[in-house]
Parts: sequence; C-alpha cells; structure tokens
Amino acid sequence: MDLSIYDLCDGDFRDRLAQTQSAIIPVGSLEQHGQHLPVSTDCLIAEHISIKVGQRLEYFVFPVVPYGVSFEHSPMFNVSVRDSTLSNILCDICISIARLGIKKIVIINGHHGNMGVLQYVSQNTFEKMPRDSAVYVINYWSFMNQIFDHAGEVETSILLAIKPGLVRMDRAKASDKTLMKSREAYRSMTLRPGSFPEITGNGVWGDPKFASAEKGKELLSEINENIIRTILEFG
Ligand SMILES: [Zn+2]
Repeated sequence: MDLSIYDLCDGDFRDRLAQTQSAIIPVGSLEQHGQHLPVSTDCLIAEHISIKVGQRLEYFVFPVVPYGVSFEHSPMFNVSVRDSTLSNILCDICISIARLGIKKIVIINGHHGNMGVLQYVSQNTFEKMPRDSAVYVINYWSFMNQIFDHAGEVETSILLAIKPGLVRMDRAKASDKTLMKSREAYRSMTLRPGSFPEITGNGVWGDPKFASAEKGKELLSEINENIIRTILEFG
C-alpha cells in the first residue's frame, strides 16, 4: 500500500485512512557536514528512516521539513529558522494532520539542534488537537549503540548506504582539533551560535575515514528495528 503523501490524491488518502490513522513526519536541517557530505544530510537520513519505518508499520509518511535550528554551524553553511518558527511550522502541521483524522503522529528527527523545540510540540498542540490524538518524538541517534557524530563515521556510513553518489570520500577529513573535553561540556558549548566551527575547526565531529556502506546498513537496520519496537510501545 502506497502511503507516501507525495503520491496520493485526496480520495486515495481517505481510502487509506480507513486502514491507518498513524503518520510520520521527518524533520531535518540544512547545514554544513564537512567537505564530503551534502548539506541535506540530516534531511536525507530522517526521510530515509521515516520511509522504511512507515513502510513496515503501514503509516502515512509526510514530506521532510527541511529547515531546522542550526545556528551553531555559522559562519559555515546553514539555513536556519528560529526555534519559534520551527515550533510554529511543526505545531501547525500536526494540528492540520490531526484534523484530517490522523490520531498518532510520530516526528522522526535528524538534527540534534532541533531537540529543544521538539520537546514541546506535544504540549503546544495539546489544546488544539482532538483528545484521542497524540504527538511523539524520535531522535534517531538514540536508537543505536554507537556514539553519534557530525559528518564522522556514523553519518558518513549512513550516507554511503543510502546516497553513495553524494559522498566525496576523497575529501573526507577528521576534525581539525582534538576534542578532549567532556561530552557534557560540548553539549552546553554547542548551544551557542557559531560554536561548532570554533570547536571542530573544519565542522566535522569524528572521523569519516572509518565509514563504510556496510556499517551504514548495519546502523540503519539497528536504528529502524529499535524505532519500530518503540513506536509500537507508544500504543
Ligand atoms: Zn548531521
């Protein structure tokens, strides 16, 4: 059954709604991912996982929301929206979808800097949505054992698995700087606009040279299985 919103007419949507009242919205960002990965990396990953999970669970899959909050990458490439803008876009989409009859909305997020906004979408939509509908948020990197990076081994492996033609391994380089501080320190430091290039030098966190398509496929299968199990637990 085709459940990608891109491909459906109004009548198709109504027919399928009789069978599923659940939907996934992928959310990404447009920001630098070193010199070897496209700026759309977070969008591509969020959308890919959403489509795979949506196919397995037979949920509707909505188009990716491509703009996120990524001021930390300035002055390197980023097209960012303010936290209030992203919140408004997502809340409006969720309310609209719920009014169409969708009861379970799962947002699958591909970008770390969106987390603060996503935490409050459910709260901010609660009064405007039917009582039997709900919004859930999934940050995909929480569903793998490997530690998350930025244009390092994890993201590069996943891109090699899903869009190998967009990866320039001949340009792949590890972070210019040695990252010796605690993760907690970096977590706070990266909230500041412009912090990411200051911390990493070249905008890369981790080492993409260890990446492979095989690792990417394994990561995706681990992530997808864990996400599917968790979404089913939502009820
Ligand atoms: Zn990324």
